[in-house]
Amino acid sequence: MSFSENLSRIRTSIDNTAAASGRAGDSIHLIAVSKQQPQERIEQALSAGYRLFGENRVQEASARWAAVKPRYPDLRLHLIGPLQTNKVEEAAALFDCIESLDRPKLADALAAAMKKLGRSVPCLIQVNTGQEAQKAGVAPQDLPALLEYARGLGLSVQGLMCIPPVEAPAGVHFAFLKTLADRHGLSVLSMGMSGDYKKAIAAGATHVRIGSLLFGERERISR
Ligand SMILES: *Cc1c(COP(=O)(O)O)cnc(C)c1O
Repeated sequence: MSFSENLSRIRTSIDNTAAASGRAGDSIHLIAVSKQQPQERIEQALSAGYRLFGENRVQEASARWAAVKPRYPDLRLHLIGPLQTNKVEEAAALFDCIESLDRPKLADALAAAMKKLGRSVPCLIQVNTGQEAQKAGVAPQDLPALLEYARGLGLSVQGLMCIPPVEAPAGVHFAFLKTLADRHGLSVLSMGMSGDYKKAIAAGATHVRIGSLLFGERERISR
């Protein structure tokens, strides 16, 4: 299946799922997760006019997009993976949204980098809804303090992001993230991937992050 065929099938499914929850389909953004995909599939997407992409590693994203981005002024890149403080400046220069803000030190580094670059990049706070030791994200009980801290630094925090534990029913985590977002008056909710995006939309997602269903299986194994 070509990118365009996959896209139209998924877009229809998103629109139908949204309608079933009484929501407008165009209120839900589909982030095409291009990590570890062969370049020809990305070229297909760009030729088809697609402009919203997600990457989970700063270096891989730079290699793929830094030279391409200037050719497409309307291209938007979301960072959806963990961010180390030594890569913050590169990330703040390349990405249009950082979805993985999860600690005060990273907020400090992002604020400093944005100031230096003269560029304001919207952020989402990643919440570790499953309280998994190995997973990035702020613990739910630490969210209010991080939100206040990041805003105090002048960061534009627009919403929340989560990746539910693999073995857990995702819907519970999506509903929890929605509750947290509502409590703090945050409008953006990035949740749902190839396997669970319908549940995420039913729970209130505004952004779903879809890779393999859109592009096909990834080429390289995620490290
Ligand atoms: C890889 C990745 C996705 C996309 O996963 P698929 O199952 O291929 O849709 C979504 N979100 C994050 C954070 C990812 O790392």
